[in-house]
Amino acid sequence: MSKSYRVRCREINDNFSGTFVFNNATLEAPGLLPGELAEVSLLYGKDKGKAVVNEIIEASDKRINPPCPVYRECGGCSLMHTTYDNQLQIKENYCRKLLSKFGKVSKIEGMDNPYNYRNKIHSTFSKNKKGDIVSGLYEETSHRVVEVDKCLVEDERASEVIKTIRELMKKYRVMPYNEDKGVGIIRHVLLRVAENGDTLVAIVVGSNVFPDKHKFAEKITANHPFVKSVVLNYNLKKTSLVLGEREEILAGSGFIVDRMCGIEFRISAKSFYQVNRVLAERIYMDAIREAGIGAKDKVLDAYCGIGTIGLAVAKHTGAERVVGVELNGAAVADAISNAKRSGLSNVTFVQGDAGDYLDSVGSEEKFSCIIMDPPRSGASLKFIKSVLRMKPEKIIYISCNPVTLARDLSELTKKNYRAELIRPYDMFCHSSHVETVCLLSKKR
Ligand code: SAH
Repeated sequence: MSKSYRVRCREINDNFSGTFVFNNATLEAPGLLPGELAEVSLLYGKDKGKAVVNEIIEASDKRINPPCPVYRECGGCSLMHTTYDNQLQIKENYCRKLLSKFGKVSKIEGMDNPYNYRNKIHSTFSKNKKGDIVSGLYEETSHRVVEVDKCLVEDERASEVIKTIRELMKKYRVMPYNEDKGVGIIRHVLLRVAENGDTLVAIVVGSNVFPDKHKFAEKITANHPFVKSVVLNYNLKKTSLVLGEREEILAGSGFIVDRMCGIEFRISAKSFYQVNRVLAERIYMDAIREAGIGAKDKVLDAYCGIGTIGLAVAKHTGAERVVGVELNGAAVADAISNAKRSGLSNVTFVQGDAGDYLDSVGSEEKFSCIIMDPPRSGASLKFIKSVLRMKPEKIIYISCNPVTLARDLSELTKKNYRAELIRPYDMFCHSSHVETVCLLSKKR
């Protein structure tokens, strides 16, 4: 054990770690809160500048005992050591620091119940040192599986199904897949849960041979009637990606149907879908209402995924025309089928790069409102320049990364646009992520 030092925490930094000064350098320790006195060990090599907390000597009144027993090892959550109110405050302060220069940052919107919100659940299977079959998540920095019996942020039904799968594996002697040796069968299990509880179970296998697959599916659906479909996903490659290409349906239709913003979405194992339905719905409906989109508007939904926002706009505002653009072909196909199912005729979807698309439509298509929901890397400069050339009345920027949002806002607000509203939402409770909505309008 390396030497322990007693330090006093000063602030929370942008990684949501606590900072302290040691030998004139500012270092950080995950899980430390401002004002706290703690014993820490310093890390070296690639982790230089970081420390681990060995013991809290004087605790902050905002500290709580993390309700999850594997909180420290797992790495999925990073704020469970503090009250939910303080988590919200930390995220709000972070957004204020990065975004206040563009306009007033509103109070963060949190969840009434910040637990069990994830509707997409992933569990990896392995054997522990004793040879027992275990399931959970990979440790943040290694390939070791941290055993998770009940994850507090996931839909409660998931843990029950995963437990059944572990028991069935024991009963039928189905081994977890061992990537290094290339032996065994089950690699991962992925679950998708709809609002009404309908669940899709995808069993990801590393082998073409799984003799008891039909018995597995039968037992899972018999024990858990809310499981409406079971699929096998074949992932025979040495890869960190969870899902492979090939899929075989063992029970049900291979998809579930969920409702968001009053629209039905067909979700298969591979579909992209927001993991927190409750907040996603609130964000989209707030943004549509606050931007005042009406029947005269022509709306672009850029980075549209399976069309969630564009379809909500088409349904609830009666906008004259809505176009969604998205790079991923499978997501576009889902978007088109979602539009058909909901009988909306004022919306179309295009596959391509958002920047290329907007650049190429030139003056043929004039959007009055542009909604953008890019990935963490933010929008491309080509896209932003095309937006500025088109001069829509309104821009709604939905961002999952305040750093790239700030970068893009500095371009968008340089001349013609003003941020009317900037509001963070706690879409990923207990994690270090925060979603932000920014409404921009053209200066008069
Ligand atoms: N608005 C959607 C998805 C947002 S996630 C929803 O709410 O569900 C961001 C999306 O941007 C992903 O679907 C990703 O495939 C897509 N994307 C990434 N780069 C892109 C690009 N250059 N052009 C268009 N879409 C892109």
